[in-house]
Amino acid sequence: MTYAINETHDPNLRSWVASANDPNTDFPIQNLPFGVFLPPGENELPSIGVAIGDQVLDLSAVAEELWAEDFSDEIADACTMDLSLRWILSLDVHQLAELRQRISKLLRAEASDHERAVAEAALLPMSAVQMLLPTEIGDYTDFYASVYHATNIGKMFRPDQPLMPNYKWIPIGYHGRASSIVPSGASIRRPVGQTMPDGATTPSFGPSKVLDYELEVGFFVGQGNPQGQPISLSEAEDHIFGLCLVNDWSARDIQRWEYQPLGPFLSKSFATTISPWIVTTAALAPFRAAAFQRADSDPQPLPYLDSPENRERGGFDIRLEVLLTSEQMRQQGMAPHRLSASNTQDLYWTFAQMLTHHTSNGCNLQPGDLLASGTVSGANDGSQGSLIELTERGAKPFTLPTGETRRFLEDGDEVILRGHCERAGFRRIGFGECRGIVMG
Ligand code: MN
Repeated sequence: MTYAINETHDPNLRSWVASANDPNTDFPIQNLPFGVFLPPGENELPSIGVAIGDQVLDLSAVAEELWAEDFSDEIADACTMDLSLRWILSLDVHQLAELRQRISKLLRAEASDHERAVAEAALLPMSAVQMLLPTEIGDYTDFYASVYHATNIGKMFRPDQPLMPNYKWIPIGYHGRASSIVPSGASIRRPVGQTMPDGATTPSFGPSKVLDYELEVGFFVGQGNPQGQPISLSEAEDHIFGLCLVNDWSARDIQRWEYQPLGPFLSKSFATTISPWIVTTAALAPFRAAAFQRADSDPQPLPYLDSPENRERGGFDIRLEVLLTSEQMRQQGMAPHRLSASNTQDLYWTFAQMLTHHTSNGCNLQPGDLLASGTVSGANDGSQGSLIELTERGAKPFTLPTGETRRFLEDGDEVILRGHCERAGFRRIGFGECRGIVMG
């Protein structure tokens, strides 16, 4: 079901929203990601939106006008009964497929005059609205699924054994902090914390000097599972509602001192930024990929984490990049400087495997939980998804177009994550941006 390609993916579909037909837009009619926005003006309430070109369709308004006459319409209810995506996240895959069809038809060039009039009245320019978190995020788990990232980091601390013996058997993760997740655009306060500088014998307390980003992709859980009832790998895809970009800001000096033996804590929990539009798994159907090709010398996953379907198309082909602007660059009107590019195909574990492993002990996931991939780094130079890898712990600083150099993030730096999918025979779709400026 989640892999199904249907008429909503037809590359020839055109929308009556002109900007959606621009070949470079992240949000053509084949995408239709969900988000929650605050309209301009005073005393406005948040509403559920769908991105289309450079516009936002107020889905709640459309559902109220076109679908709410039928009192048994659960899909209309999900679009109108809450100021977040909570109810939509709880729909089953068949209902979600129908909702996608309805929105697609409404925005197509062939829409009826009445439908078009209703939808036109519910459009707002994206530049005029404020994007909020898409839902209340009950729990946030961050994985460590890029074997290249794990190897790059492991090498710094254990040159002879970069990967721990468990790495190729279980998707490694830690329990992140949900309360400090913010939408793109929110500024990030440099965290203060305890560190043990090289050569010191007692720790210091003060602002982090080694602030980093992590380029990640996250997914929102749709329907959850009752406690004690694991989600099998064959069912896992039906519980993955959609994906967004994630910046897991990391204070490396705090992390280095605190992380043993229980993992990251305050080095990560001060802030995590997500892109505000959730690109659904349905929209991503044309961009599925084989799971990571394991070397012959690697173990195969245990049976509960393995299936032919997961091997064949459990992965996603999403092209990612990280860009940076310094305050000086912005003052001089310079374009963002690209630091790296990578792809989710480089993840050693699929999202379905992460979700199944997460519930395998009986842990219950809930609609709106966020699970993230961990830093997405590739095998080659220029594909490292964090500065600690790019600059080799600061040993190899790089130069910005202004001549400024960077080892780690300075105050005023803005980190911009972007992601998109393209494949012959399909329309390019994108994720929009995940931005955050570091404040001192
Ligand atoms: Mn991370």
